[in-house]
Amino acid sequence: MDGVITKEITCTVCPVGCKLTIEKDGDHYRISGNECKRGHSYAIEELIHPTRMLTATVEIRNALHRRLPVHSSAPLPKELLFPAMKLIKKCRVDAPVHCGQVIIAGILNTSVDICASRDMELV
Ligand code: SF4
Repeated sequence: MDGVITKEITCTVCPVGCKLTIEKDGDHYRISGNECKRGHSYAIEELIHPTRMLTATVEIRNALHRRLPVHSSAPLPKELLFPAMKLIKKCRVDAPVHCGQVIIAGILNTSVDICASRDMELV
């Protein structure tokens, strides 16, 4: 027999940061604490298929700094964050790199790229 699942999360869609309570009873969801409809959609998405933007750094050669900040081009499923970080950790690039340049295309066979977050010139 399925019971009621209750989860409390913070909505990150806007800076208000509403504290949401999600109750799932079978296929029925009850969301409370949201000040707008976007919070309702966010809560259900967070329960069914949570995703996160990924930020990290990769090793860069021949640049002023040793690490290049990178970010995902879109949110990744939460369960892929750790495998993605393992791949990013192994990645090395050569300067120059430009902000927005794709460092890893379609990471883990997704449509999400890992992109440079800043320019890094050759030194
Ligand atoms: S529920 Fe609406 S108002 Fe509240 S944090 Fe989410 S988007 Fe902002």
